[in-house]
Amino acid sequence: MSAKIYYDSDANLDLLKDKTIVFLGFGNQGAAQAQNLRDSGIPNEKIVVANRPDHYAEDAKSKGFNVEHDFAKAAKQADIIFLLIPDQVQPRVFNNEIAPNLKDDACIVVASGYNVFYKLLNFKPSQDIVMVAPRMIGSSVRSLYVKGKGFPCFVSSEQDGTGKALELALALSRAIGATKAGAIASSAREETAMDLFAEQALWPNIIMLFREAFSVLKEAGCSDEALCYEMWMSKEPAEIFERAAEDGFIRQLKHHSTVSQYGQLNGALNLDGSAARAHFKDILYNQVLNAKFQQEFSKIEDDLEKEGDANPLEILYQKSEASELGQAEKRVRARLAGLLAQ
Ligand code: NDP
Repeated sequence: MSAKIYYDSDANLDLLKDKTIVFLGFGNQGAAQAQNLRDSGIPNEKIVVANRPDHYAEDAKSKGFNVEHDFAKAAKQADIIFLLIPDQVQPRVFNNEIAPNLKDDACIVVASGYNVFYKLLNFKPSQDIVMVAPRMIGSSVRSLYVKGKGFPCFVSSEQDGTGKALELALALSRAIGATKAGAIASSAREETAMDLFAEQALWPNIIMLFREAFSVLKEAGCSDEALCYEMWMSKEPAEIFERAAEDGFIRQLKHHSTVSQYGQLNGALNLDGSAARAHFKDILYNQVLNAKFQQEFSKIEDDLEKEGDANPLEILYQKSEASELGQAEKRVRARLAGLLAQ
């Protein structure tokens, strides 16, 4: 299955003419996307940053943006509104303060599929819902734009209330610089599935493999210091992934020794992936796509704001850091603080 890729030539910036564009949030993505959009020629007087009165609001003011602290007021003006506040607070803020004040034909832009796929936001059928989801942190969204480069981004129309949702999504993608290198046609379902799968299936397995590998090698007499450096503190894994992005997932192996290439390729081919595949499918279908995780996560969301042991995330950190790997790393970091600071 190959996805359609949209370029600048597929997008018409004229569609944004005379539109009032509101950015709800001026954090990671909000600050980057608002500046890119303005630098693409959208007049500053047509851009409003909606933010509570604090340092994010001050940052927006210092960059010359019009800031509105009253979300209802901001929502009433919006022809287009970017929801760029954290995913877990979007339902509360959007449903209570934004949705009741939005125009019937407003276009709502999300940068992540989560709240749309799980239907946590109250939209009107007449409104356009689009996803413009950069695959980059905000600072890179901005710095690549400034350098005249594009960045990877997923784009989709999730609800076409006005008949122009996709065209608007493409115009907005172009305005934030996302169609320069090609924006990939996607969907909230696809984006959410891949994101949560990586977080709940792929990376937990990688963490588990490192944890178990650490214990096996330690038992065989390897020192904590050597293990920490060998496994991640040398930054070799980061380099491998960088090479994988540049040269290819398999072809990056050419940078390793012949012994290493042979061992890695032969070892991987000899591993039976069927148990992992079954486990992965279970997570994807019975935890992610069926909304089981989302429903369970919603129940603990308020607890995640609490301090200390009342916060379930804190407990997970404590348990994970109690592992042999976690304890050893703590000792090594304390001992080699000087070396690590260099
Ligand atoms: P941030 O954590 O950087 O958002 C901070 C902004 O949200 C600030 O303006 C903050 O203002 C506001 N905010 C936080 N809490 C509240 C609240 N309770 N009520 C109102 N405003 C609030 O978010 P990101 O930029 O990381 O994420 C925004 C969206 O972009 C999400 O959908 C995310 O999934 C997506 N995304 C993020 C990426 C990233 O690199 N982080 C990459 C791609 C997509 P204040 O605290 O003053 O209210």
